[in-house]
Amino acid sequence: MVAPNWIGDALMAQPLLMRLLDRKPGARIDLLAPPRVAAVLRRMPEVSKVIEADLRHGELQLGDRWRLGRMLRGREYTEAYVLPNTMKSALAPSLARIPLRVGYLGESRVGLLNRIHRTAQPREPMSLHYARLAEEPGTEPAMPLPAPCIRTGLTDVVARFGITGPYLVLCPGAEYGPAKRWPYFRELASRLRMQIVLLGAAGDPEDYREIPGLNLIGKTSLDDAIDLIAKSAAVVSNDSGLMHVAAAAGRPVVALFGSSSPEHTGPQTPGAKVFWLQLECSPCYKPECPLGHFRCMRELAVEPVLQAVHAALGTAP
Ligand code: SF4
Repeated sequence: MVAPNWIGDALMAQPLLMRLLDRKPGARIDLLAPPRVAAVLRRMPEVSKVIEADLRHGELQLGDRWRLGRMLRGREYTEAYVLPNTMKSALAPSLARIPLRVGYLGESRVGLLNRIHRTAQPREPMSLHYARLAEEPGTEPAMPLPAPCIRTGLTDVVARFGITGPYLVLCPGAEYGPAKRWPYFRELASRLRMQIVLLGAAGDPEDYREIPGLNLIGKTSLDDAIDLIAKSAAVVSNDSGLMHVAAAAGRPVVALFGSSSPEHTGPQTPGAKVFWLQLECSPCYKPECPLGHFRCMRELAVEPVLQAVHAALGTAP
């Protein structure tokens, strides 16, 4: 299977893996994935092996894909599921001559794929979008879909960072862009009377250093971040990969949506508390607000989020 390029998308693809194994118990599922998502895929019980391929976004890298195709041919796979929609993502399974190659039409991939699906609804739930690939084209998957679930507790990260006692994780970043970043994490943290751990990527904005708490932004591996989230009392996050990690690790999640939609990429856990103002301009799916006012996040006040955090923690405001 060719995995998606984003952590959140990779987790929303896990129900597809579960459905494929329901069909063929004991089948081996190997995933071809960029290094940035490999750690989360290795935590999925359905995955036999992760083959890391650093094929950079936007670059064709024809020679690398040809070598990859040859390597895959030697493994004698019988089926390939191509989750990204690009032409180049379907090249290696085709070059590997894998007999059945499944995916969405995407960039007109007739010839590269030989079982081609069409999207039923624009911006439908991503987990449904991926899970449909386990069915014959034109057939909808049985609902409800199983929820993503990953292995946790594989590192000693909590002790390594000297954390003792319960803590709340805040994930104030979103690699996609500022239109997904709630601007009030600092105020939220200053009003909470509990230990706070901040997680995120090295490229997150510098001013996150002003948020009170143990700032581990950019200082953890993805494996560490997964286990820190898994041991937390609850997680407050923008619509980001770490929000999906929290859901798959079974933690209470308070999720904050701006330019994207929880109907499309919402946390896959029934206990999540989702905030989304659903303005007339929303969802625009832009990384930066095209209207300049950023009301979808600016008007999402601290107080209701604070109440939701207390509800998730079972504490009094
Ligand atoms: S256009 Fe609307 S939904 Fe998009 S970023 Fe601006 S306020 Fe948010």
